[in-house]
Amino acid sequence: MTSGAYDDNNIFAKILRGKIPSHRVFENEHVVAFMDVMPQAPGHVLVVPKAASRNLLDADPAVLAQTIAVVQKIANAVKEAFDADGVFVCQFNEPAAGQTVFHLHFHVIPRHEGTALKPHSGKMEDNAVLAANAEKIKAEL
Ligand code: 5GP
Repeated sequence: MTSGAYDDNNIFAKILRGKIPSHRVFENEHVVAFMDVMPQAPGHVLVVPKAASRNLLDADPAVLAQTIAVVQKIANAVKEAFDADGVFVCQFNEPAAGQTVFHLHFHVIPRHEGTALKPHSGKMEDNAVLAANAEKIKAEL
């Protein structure tokens, strides 16, 4: 089965265009990082390249290199900001693998020993909490 085409009206494309608000923690020429609205743990960040691709499978390797460098930066920042024991980085390709938004993104999630992850795309977090967590992460960047 082939993958679908890139749809410019996906939610992250709209966030990148500034049409939908997000709690941004980092931006450079190629990549944006913002808080996931349904965090699996406090401090869950999405790292999103500005270039259009549906997921890892159709991405330009140069874009992947730019993006993973920011994933590393954000992973260190969330570890510090949330005094985490570890950091979970994950990325889904196509619905069968759990992908729900079809613009390439990496999840960066602080982890604490003995604390289970909340469900993927579970409960919407309060705006004020997301804003406060974004500030904590920005302070470590
Ligand atoms: P995927 O399943 O595609 O890897 O993950 C999509 C992620 O985007 C989910 O973790 C979900 O909580 C998050 N998400 C969905 N809609 C929005 C939104 O409008 N804004 C933000 N910041 N995150 C979103």
